[in-house]
Amino acid sequence: MTTNFLKELGIEGTNPGAYDGRWIEGSGTLLESRNPATGEVIARVRQAGRPEYDRVVAAAHEAFLRWRAVPAPKRGEIVRRMGDAIRHKKDPLGRLIALEMGKILQEGWGEVQEAIDMADFAVGQSRMLYGLSMHSERPGHAMREQWHPLGTVGVITAFNFPMAVWAWNSMLAYICGDPCVWKPSGHTPLCAIGLTNVVRPVLEAEGFGALAGLLIGPSSQVGQPMLEDARVPLVSFTGSTAVGRTVAAQVAQRFGRTILELGGNNGLAILDDADLDLALPAVLFGSVGTAGQRCTTTRRLLVHEKIADEVERRLVKAYGGIRIGDPMVEGTLCGPLVTPEAVQDMQNALAKVKALGGEVLCGGEKVTLPGALAGGNFVRPAIVRAKNEWPIVQEETFAPILYVIRIKDVDDAIAKNNGVPQGLSSAIFTRDVRAAERWTSAVGSDCGIANVNIGTSGAEIGGAFGGEKETGGGREAGSDCWKAYMRRQTSTTNWSNALPLAQGIQFG
Ligand code: NAD
Repeated sequence: MTTNFLKELGIEGTNPGAYDGRWIEGSGTLLESRNPATGEVIARVRQAGRPEYDRVVAAAHEAFLRWRAVPAPKRGEIVRRMGDAIRHKKDPLGRLIALEMGKILQEGWGEVQEAIDMADFAVGQSRMLYGLSMHSERPGHAMREQWHPLGTVGVITAFNFPMAVWAWNSMLAYICGDPCVWKPSGHTPLCAIGLTNVVRPVLEAEGFGALAGLLIGPSSQVGQPMLEDARVPLVSFTGSTAVGRTVAAQVAQRFGRTILELGGNNGLAILDDADLDLALPAVLFGSVGTAGQRCTTTRRLLVHEKIADEVERRLVKAYGGIRIGDPMVEGTLCGPLVTPEAVQDMQNALAKVKALGGEVLCGGEKVTLPGALAGGNFVRPAIVRAKNEWPIVQEETFAPILYVIRIKDVDDAIAKNNGVPQGLSSAIFTRDVRAAERWTSAVGSDCGIANVNIGTSGAEIGGAFGGEKETGGGREAGSDCWKAYMRRQTSTTNWSNALPLAQGIQFG
């Protein structure tokens, strides 16, 4: 396999693990980045430690003091050029995602497109950081609300979207006047280095390289300190619910802000009047795409009992045709899991569901492919008949297991969809407008995303993305998510010659 694209993205055999406007050799140990499809080492990173943490955060703060004074549309112009730089390198960046994270090429390129879309969105938003003006109750007074830059945003990201999540946060943070300090997952350090190399020339040319702070290192050295650091007023965390719980508590202790994008356990309901030619491809993409390693992966299929047998039969057939293999090869539909531990987690979950009486309809086994791929973390996606209330079904297992759960009607679908601790994405397939509206109504799905006749995964950036309950309540990307990256100020000006008090209070 040719890996010339690594050179094109400035990735060497051994790479520095921190960036503060210049690359900094880390003071920590060497981290090996492995190709999950072969187990081979792709490259190494000299990890950052506490000294680099302090240096990168200090440089970001210094940049903030200058950047916040740059007019927002001018900040947008720089973000536009960053987006263009990413657009120009879409091909190698997508290949790097496929190589290091293991999602198939099409999805790798799709992820880079998301970063480009975010840049485009942010450019427009940079001219629309609107505040309200209110009518004061006092004569000769004007009242308005303004949005000001907040400060350094700590961006801690999960392995499964190793570029897009940084873009969701940073593109908005930049137009809002904030620097970012990025701590990527230890499984995908090269994606962070490659992307930083693509955007940094734009920022460095403006004297603002430190806006794209990067720290690759152990969580204890470069993640944990962020949670306690008052120089980082906002921590945007994407990852598991278990880690998110600690992040939320620790940042709250110092009254810092968080955006939490945590685990999902997404339900897709198919009613008995659904168009199965739409529903089944949506289930397939939702449950097998990214080898079941999306936060929005379809994990629970809530299928009407009248059509359950047919749906199961057609899905099992479709699963039989899934090409498992090298994600770098066009035509592969299911790449590897991220680590051997993830393969083991899938086996453990299947053992638990079987012990409860779950019936495996297909898949679930570890797959050993020939040649160089023999060292890869491949599995066959599984379909399992299960009950919604079983403890293992209530959990997110980050692997391609689809639980099939029977439902009686739309209300049963809503109850089961909502009957888990997570609340990220949900979908219903039906031709009945009443059922569809019920699903998205106040008494319907309790998730941050409630779709009709499209699947649970593959959101567009224009909407606010995120979920409720143990998914953390955060929102990122489109709509008015930019507000999370700014501080709100209410300002009242008295242009009269008197000093009336609010609420008509007479004092002295
Ligand atoms: P993870 O929780 O293991 O790690 C996430 C990040 O947190 C990594 O960068 C990790 O190094 C860091 N981290 C770990 N401990 C930390 C600590 N004490 N302090 C600071 N940082 C710490 O998650 P993962 O395995 O990389 O990703 C998979 C999870 O992410 C799944 O649960 C998935 O649903 C979730 N996810 C959610 C969304 C969303 O938008 N809701 C998107 C992608 C992934």
